[in-house]
Amino acid sequence: MDGASERDEHFLRLSFAVARRSLSHGNHPFGCIVVGADGKILIESENGYMPDHDGTAHAERLAATRACRTLGREVLAKATLYSSAEPCAMCAGAIYWAGIGRVVFGLSEHRLRSITGNHPENPTLALPCREVFASGQRPTEVIGPLLEKEAEALHVGIWTK
Ligand SMILES: [Zn+2]
Repeated sequence: MDGASERDEHFLRLSFAVARRSLSHGNHPFGCIVVGADGKILIESENGYMPDHDGTAHAERLAATRACRTLGREVLAKATLYSSAEPCAMCAGAIYWAGIGRVVFGLSEHRLRSITGNHPENPTLALPCREVFASGQRPTEVIGPLLEKEAEALHVGIWTK
């Protein structure tokens, strides 16, 4: 994968661990982390669907909101958001508005969609995050899918009705 490094794989696997923790907390198996240019983890975010059935509480959307509230513009521009799965259109929008400069994801939305189908709790969109970012007025670098087999394993047996 062009532009990906061992460091990217390391942090992406940490986002997988956050996704597993999210599942153990009764939520959907998605997780993300925001890492600064110096390699410091700034934000960790699990999926937040429960307890309120909040369908907008995707891990990346929650992380982007927290990033806006707690981090400076320069820090965000140089930060990378690592997500266990590709950010949906909503989350890509939130990442754009937060001004996070780089995204690395594991499982592609296309692949996730084939796993979840139209599950009522996750009727996955079919709009690649690159298309959302390409519509913006500032560049967002995107790497992914990366380690997709490991990312996919997080969803085995979760979305069968
Ligand atoms: Zn999302």
